[in-house]
Amino acid sequence: MFVLLLEVRVKMEKSFNNELNECETRKQKEFYDKFPLLFPKHPHWSTKREVQEPECGFSCDYGWWPLLKKLCSDLTKLLEESGLPEENKIIPIDQIKEKFSGVRIYFGSFHESLNDKVYALVREAEEKSFKICETCGQPGEKRSGGWLKVRCDSCQEKLKEINKCIGQTH
Ligand SMILES: [Zn+2]
Repeated sequence: MFVLLLEVRVKMEKSFNNELNECETRKQKEFYDKFPLLFPKHPHWSTKREVQEPECGFSCDYGWWPLLKKLCSDLTKLLEESGLPEENKIIPIDQIKEKFSGVRIYFGSFHESLNDKVYALVREAEEKSFKICETCGQPGEKRSGGWLKVRCDSCQEKLKEINKCIGQTH
């Protein structure tokens, strides 16, 4: 009986995760379409402006998306106002992820004259992420719960409830 229940739960989780993944992929696509200079399919072909997901992926929860959108919009503005030739108006984002509880962003190569400004903007976003609940976007702080994540009070409580239901002690 227990094994059967467990199987049902695993199946339900799988189907929920698939739905979530599809939804996430669609939402991420909107992100890439909005900032084509940061998610280029052909970083070195100036005439192509097709977009794609970062080469090494985009994996963090929705709570940080407004922060990331602001960063992408600032980076795009920086490019547009840079006075650089069209073929250099590109800052390819290779990866967005959570690392050591904060957001981490990796880039491919871009014009060196942009270095200081790009990294100042990125540092600012990374620092802010440590105070924003990765799950919902409300003010948060680092919490344990299996692994260290930035969460608000309410998301932390929900996680505790879920962990209780599935018998974890965190
Ligand atoms: Zn939250």
